Amino acid sequence: MRALAVYPDRHITQIIEIAEPPPPRGHEVLVRVHEVGICGTDRDIADFHYGEPPPGSDHLILGHEAVGEIADIGEDVSTVRIGDLVVLTVRRPCPDPGCRACRVGRQDFCTTGDFTERGIKQVHGYLTELVLDDEHNVVAVPPQLTAVAALVEPLSIAAKAAEQAQAVQRRLPWEQEKGRILVLGAGPVGMLGALAMTVTGFDTIVYSRESDDSPRADRVREMGATYLSTDQTPIAKLPAVTGPIDVIYEAVGVPAVAFGAIEALSPNGLLILTGIPGPAEPTALPLDRIMKTIVLSNQAIVGTVNASRSAFALAVQRLEQAMYLVPQSVRGIITKRVPLDAAPDTLREPHGVKDIVQIGRT
Ligand code: BGC
Repeated sequence: MRALAVYPDRHITQIIEIAEPPPPRGHEVLVRVHEVGICGTDRDIADFHYGEPPPGSDHLILGHEAVGEIADIGEDVSTVRIGDLVVLTVRRPCPDPGCRACRVGRQDFCTTGDFTERGIKQVHGYLTELVLDDEHNVVAVPPQLTAVAALVEPLSIAAKAAEQAQAVQRRLPWEQEKGRILVLGAGPVGMLGALAMTVTGFDTIVYSRESDDSPRADRVREMGATYLSTDQTPIAKLPAVTGPIDVIYEAVGVPAVAFGAIEALSPNGLLILTGIPGPAEPTALPLDRIMKTIVLSNQAIVGTVNASRSAFALAVQRLEQAMYLVPQSVRGIITKRVPLDAAPDTLREPHGVKDIVQIGRT
């Protein structure tokens, strides 16, 4: 069967032939991959800046935003059946008996850093035809979401962020109402974050560099959020234009933007960071002013990475809700579908918000 592999030492990304997985045993399931979304992490790996092949292998099979169908199950599987549509989680636990996070199945909070991630760190990914995994690493998706289910993994970032936001803001001595959210960036994480926040009742503003008449700005308005372009509103003017914001959801991975926008945060507000910056020159920021405001206004900053099984399940729910309320906006996030043969080119040149590689049936 075919797979898309990155050879970091030889600086090659290409389609290769690999052996099919063996039949599933015990709690294993065999998944026939339908579609895999491509994200910035995949592009960084294909640019040889990030990612790590399995120990002893010279290549890594890419892909971690997968949806597929259960093709076969081991004799002990009880949670899914052949034919079910599923998405696959990404991170697998570290082996350290002392890592409390991994020992309770919350490897998204791993404390040793020795976790693995399918398609990213030390385990092959899903950009191939069949994959084997444990039933506990797949999450069932209702068939009516087939066409958009590849969005579940990137949406799980927003779902985990929402869980985290709730947990952090429980510190406030009153019941917090749904407030105003500023999303930084209109890439896939930003757009899906805005979608999840809007459908759950937040008043959402998306701030990004695309112009006010760009297709991304239209998508944002269609979902019922407000779009602000850096063209009209330089970051220094943001607080005056937006007014006080309860939660900032950062999805650009640029420190100057993340911390530049913090002045728009209300007293007791929360800044959630999801972007992973690439190497860059040091950035000058007015840290004295920023720190003074954080302290005097009880603000909180929280970073969030990866997602638990429960965040995937929540993402499925949000997607269902969004498909009911604003189906066009959800479908509009998927800007291109390409066959596996075209995946190396798509990795080099993004076509739009979310490009998807089609492998099997959809
Ligand atoms: C993936 C996460 C992963 C992170 C860091 C993201 O693109 O969605 O699952 O933890 O990259 O490797």
